[in-house]
Parts: sequence; structure tokens; C-alpha cells
Amino acid sequence: MSTLRLPKAVYQAIRAHGEQTYPNECCGALLGHSTQDGWQIQSAVPAGNTRNDSAHNRYQIAPIELVKIERDARKQGLGIAGFYHSHPDHPAQWSLTDLSEAHWLGCSYVITAVARGKATVTNSFLLAGATEEGKHFEQETIAIGDEPIEDLTKELSS
Ligand SMILES: [Zn+2]
Repeated sequence: MSTLRLPKAVYQAIRAHGEQTYPNECCGALLGHSTQDGWQIQSAVPAGNTRNDSAHNRYQIAPIELVKIERDARKQGLGIAGFYHSHPDHPAQWSLTDLSEAHWLGCSYVITAVARGKATVTNSFLLAGATEEGKHFEQETIAIGDEPIEDLTKELSS
């Protein structure tokens, strides 16, 4: 099982984005670099959901926006590590539509369930497989926080 490493601030930001766009889906890209067992995320880039026809259960990032996100990422020495979106009043599980519309093999797809406007469960799925035909989602572990140990202890004792 692979692990998606999310700084706490990024984790909170993508969940907050889902609450902001409720009852519509939010979406965005995750930037980072790959490690031996998964992606280390550095930042999240919120994107506009271009699915005006069905924004409550579909998401799409405009191709031109994605090109810009990728170009900016490369300038910072990062790559597109994955994408995130929300499921308003639905579980944090991928749908068949999510799978058919996912094309970035090896990238992580993060889904946050937003129940009545409040973010609940966040899951991450790695788009595994070597070809478009063989692609499939594998659930991965989410590790939150990249703060040094000292900071974590401080947080616990306060
Ligand atoms: Zn979805």
C-alpha cells in the first residue's frame, strides 16, 4: 500500500475548499514529488470546477488551467502529484465516473466527503496500472503532517 503524505495545512485547505463549494464539488491539483512509497505533497492548487451542467456530482479542471498549474509547478521543481475533489453528501469513495475520467496513471486522487456542508472523511486512491485499459484505483494511506517532532509534542501538550 502506498502512502500519500500531506502537510497538515494542505489537508485542512482541501477539506475547507469542499466546504466552501458545498453543495457543489470542489476540485484542484496537488503538487509534490515522488518518494519510494508514494507522493510527498507540498501544496494544493484550488481550481475552478468547469462542470456547470452537473457541478454537484462532477468535477473537471479546464485543460488550460491545468497547463498553467503544471508550468508553475515545474518552476518550483515540483510535479503534479494528484488531484482532489469533494463528494457532497456522498461517501469518500471513488465512482465509476471518477475512474473513467482519471487519466494520470501513478497519480493520487483524493476525495473528501462533505456531509451537510461539513467535511467528514478524506480518502486517497492511487491510479494504478500501466495502461488506460488496465487502470484501477488502489486505496492508499494518508499521512498527515510534516512538522518536526518538537512541534507535534507542543501541539499535544497545549
Ligand atoms: Zn468523485
